[in-house]
Amino acid sequence: MEAYKKWNRRSFLGGLGLMAGSVFSGPKLWGRPQKSVASGRGLSRDVYEDLGVTTIINGQGTMTMLGGSLIPPEVEAAMDAASRHFVSIPELEVAAGKRIAEMLKLPEGYSALVTSGAAGAIQCGISGVLTGDDPTLIQRLPDLTGMKSEVIIQKSHRYPFDHQIRATGVKLVEVETREDVRKAVGPQTALMFFTNYLNGAGRIKVDEWVKLSMEHHLPCFNDAAADTPPVSHLWDYTKMGYDLVAFSGGKAIRGPQCAGLLLGQKDLISYALLNNSPYEDTLGRGQKVGKEEIVGMVKALELYLNDDHEALTQEWWRRLDTISRQITRVPGVSTAYYIPAIANHVPTMEINWDPRRISLTPEQAFQLLKNSKPSILLEKTRIGLAMNSFMLQPGEDKIIAQRLTEILRAHRV
Ligand SMILES: *Cc1c(COP(=O)(O)O)cnc(C)c1O
Repeated sequence: MEAYKKWNRRSFLGGLGLMAGSVFSGPKLWGRPQKSVASGRGLSRDVYEDLGVTTIINGQGTMTMLGGSLIPPEVEAAMDAASRHFVSIPELEVAAGKRIAEMLKLPEGYSALVTSGAAGAIQCGISGVLTGDDPTLIQRLPDLTGMKSEVIIQKSHRYPFDHQIRATGVKLVEVETREDVRKAVGPQTALMFFTNYLNGAGRIKVDEWVKLSMEHHLPCFNDAAADTPPVSHLWDYTKMGYDLVAFSGGKAIRGPQCAGLLLGQKDLISYALLNNSPYEDTLGRGQKVGKEEIVGMVKALELYLNDDHEALTQEWWRRLDTISRQITRVPGVSTAYYIPAIANHVPTMEINWDPRRISLTPEQAFQLLKNSKPSILLEKTRIGLAMNSFMLQPGEDKIIAQRLTEILRAHRV
C-alpha cells in the first residue's frame, strides 16, 4: 500500500502549489488561467488536451512509443531544481557517474555515465572502445580508418538496436558456437556484444559469453536495457565481468524518459563521454543529455534502490486481481497469469473468453478499448488480450475493469 501512495501525483502537486506560487509570484505570465492542476490524472492532462492529444491508460508496460514510464514526484522536483542553474556538463557527468557507481557498489575500477537512453549508451560506449581518447579518431567516426572495425554478436542476438552498433561504422560478425567465436576473432575485432533479453535464444549464455571475451582479451558489452526488475541486474553483469552494460533510465527505473545508464570500466566510460554531447564534432553530439536528465537519473536510481520491491510487486498483483475479479463475472471469461523470464519481468495477466459465448475477436476488443475515453491500451494475443499493471496509476485498474466488463458483456451471444 506504501507503493500505492508513492504513485499518487495529486498529493504531490497539491504540495507543489505552494512552491510554484513562490517561484512564479507576481503578475500572471500566461494569458489563460491555469486549469486546476488537481483535476483528473494530474497536471499532464491540460498540456495534452491543449494539443488535442489523448492520454492513455497503459497496460502494456514501459514502451518508448507510449512515453516509457512516469517519473515519481521526487524526480520531477530534482529535475526542476537542476533546471535553475548553469553547470559544467562534463563535470556534472563525472560527478554523477561516480555517485551512481557508489550507489550500485560497482566493482573497483568501474564508473557510470548518464546517456540519452540505453540506445545512446550502446552508441557512445562502442564509439569509445573504437577511439579511446584520441581526438582525431573521435572526429573521424563513423569512418573507421585507423581503428578496429568488427563487433562479434550471436546470430540470434541481432535486434533493432544493433542499428546503434552499426551507426559507429563497424561491421557485425555473426556467430553461433564457441568455435565460431574463435574463428571470428581477429586483429579487426573491437568488441563482443550481448543482447541480454535474448539470452535464451543464443547457444552461448550471458556468463559464458563474457568468459569467452576474457579468453580472447576483448571488451564485452551487455545491453540489459529493460531488464530491471529484478533490481539486482543493475550490478549482476558488471560483477560477471562485463566491461560495459547499458540500462534504460526511463523504463522500470522511472528516471527521465530521455536518460539511460552506461556502466563500465572507468577508461571506457571516459572515452564514451568524449564521443558524446556536450562535445562537438562527435558522433554522439546528437544524443544530448541535459543537466535535468543527469540529476533526475541519479535521483531516480536512488529512489529505485530504496523502493520496497516486494510491496510494489504485491501492488501490481493486487491491481490485476481487481480487474480479474470483475471481468470473470462475465460468463465465459477467464484469466491466467505469468511472469516473463526477462524484460518486463512483472506480473502479467492473460484475458481470454469463450468465443461461443462472447462474439468478439482479440482485434475488436483491442480496438474498442483503444477507442474508449480514456483510451486503454492492452496487448493483443492470438486468442485474447494480455496486460501488466506496473505502469498503471491509482484508480486505473478500476477503469480498465469496468470498461472491459462493459465490452465483454455487450458481445454476449
Ligand atoms: C528499450 C530498449 C533499448 C533502448 O532503450 P532507450 O533507453 O529507450 O534508449 C535498447 N535495448 C533494449 C533491449 C530495449 O528494450
